[in-house]
Amino acid sequence: MRALLIYPIFPPTFWSYDKILELVNRKVLLPPLGLITVASILPQEWEFKLVDRNIRPVSEAEWAWADVVIMSAMIVQKDDLLSQIKEAKKRGKLVAVGGPYPTSVPHEPQEAGVDFLILDEGEITLPMFVEAIEKGEKSGIFRTTEKPDVTITPVPRFDLLEFDAYDSMSVQFSRGCPFQCEFCDIIVLYGRKPRTKTPQQLLKELDYLYELGWRRSVFMVDDNFIGNKRNVKLLLKALKIWQQEKQYPFRFNTEASVDLADDDELMQLMVDCYFDAVFLGIETPDEDSLQLTKKFQNTRSSLADAVDKIIRIGLRPMAGFIIGFDGEKKGAGDRIVRFAEQVGIPTTTFAMLQALPNTALWHRLEKEGRLREGKDGNINQTTLMNFVPTRPVEDIANEYVDAFWRLYDPHAYLDRIYHCFLKLGAPKAQPPAKLPSLVDLKALAIVVWRQGIKRDTRWKFWHHLFSIIKHNPAVWEHYLTLCAHNEHFMEYREIVKVQIETQLKEYLSQDQKSLITC
Ligand code: SF4
Repeated sequence: MRALLIYPIFPPTFWSYDKILELVNRKVLLPPLGLITVASILPQEWEFKLVDRNIRPVSEAEWAWADVVIMSAMIVQKDDLLSQIKEAKKRGKLVAVGGPYPTSVPHEPQEAGVDFLILDEGEITLPMFVEAIEKGEKSGIFRTTEKPDVTITPVPRFDLLEFDAYDSMSVQFSRGCPFQCEFCDIIVLYGRKPRTKTPQQLLKELDYLYELGWRRSVFMVDDNFIGNKRNVKLLLKALKIWQQEKQYPFRFNTEASVDLADDDELMQLMVDCYFDAVFLGIETPDEDSLQLTKKFQNTRSSLADAVDKIIRIGLRPMAGFIIGFDGEKKGAGDRIVRFAEQVGIPTTTFAMLQALPNTALWHRLEKEGRLREGKDGNINQTTLMNFVPTRPVEDIANEYVDAFWRLYDPHAYLDRIYHCFLKLGAPKAQPPAKLPSLVDLKALAIVVWRQGIKRDTRWKFWHHLFSIIKHNPAVWEHYLTLCAHNEHFMEYREIVKVQIETQLKEYLSQDQKSLITC
């Protein structure tokens, strides 16, 4: 069986980082870990080809070669997934899809003509699909309510990737999260009991990446890396030795809940293993909203103190913020900007609250009749809320655009990096020094030219850089990398502004029309 694996295109998002990737000669931030895991679970006598459409289109030769086309997608990749289903069907191919989007909204790919829906977790549903294919069946829907034991998940087929196109590799240690945030689809898809791989299993994956020649960053894609603290410590203790023995070939980053700050041993182990950044789901500094959305773990102690502790130990925070919670008071955007500035969080993702299909929030809003019809499949950081909020949507949208604009004002961004890096703990890992590559030197020259000479950020750029070299010299290179991100954010805030303002105009004109009709 010849299986063509296709990964659909992501629209421009906060994480596209095109401008930054261009600088380092890479095309995409992360590889399709789900699809290469699928390839490892399917029979190994099958032949595989993988096309990440974020890198290049599928060639006619590849279409012709395939017996079956398998795709996986998140909600934001929906448009390209549906178009690729059509392309495959036009060529008479059998098409199977899976992943978070088809699992949450299976009727949409089904209506687009897909033959097989491989839903929920592949460790259980992929063998059902293989059995159907072996019996010569031409369609099927495979589902399970069971959560598989991930200690049996094989090493992903990293060999199928075009390594040079990616800025970072990804691996997964755990699935699921013990918390109960109302808007979160992770707990719906993967459950509230975190399931982890064994440390040896994850090290085997890293061994494979190492053997294949990978020597850059590795993102632990776990939605909450510290969901099972006991097991993650066991992993980190083994990883610390692995990294020391191999002289720190990988630098890690991940996502974790803010209660990371309560566990000094865990943070220290992460730094020892060469973790240098962590994404924290802060959502909002408004305690009422955190209570209402059941993000109780963020209300137990001071959020500002928690982030400060994480920075001082040596983990640069990235944070996710959300606006538009029920009962939210005017000025939420402003409070988010002030919080990020006060604590010194350089990179913040920011979105209007969305009700993802099947989440607790979705069910509550459905009961209250507040979901906006037909808006379930179009959800990303540049779309208006897909439900009717408790305060005027135009107030939320305007605060959102204004706050995003201010967060990524090039001066404000440089100030936040500076604030963070002055107190950022020095890395404990000591990889051997190596000469910078030509690509690195070129990237450095471009950053210095754009921000230190061409733009009006020049004085700030040099002042902050020299001050960091003087007060916290161990982090100046890391600081410059963050400065490079300024280019991307300047462009992305324009996209957010234009897209939200356009949708708001449409929304308000429809509102007017419905008033006139009434
Ligand atoms: S902490 Fe993160 S992953 Fe866990 S339930 Fe909340 S939003 Fe979801």
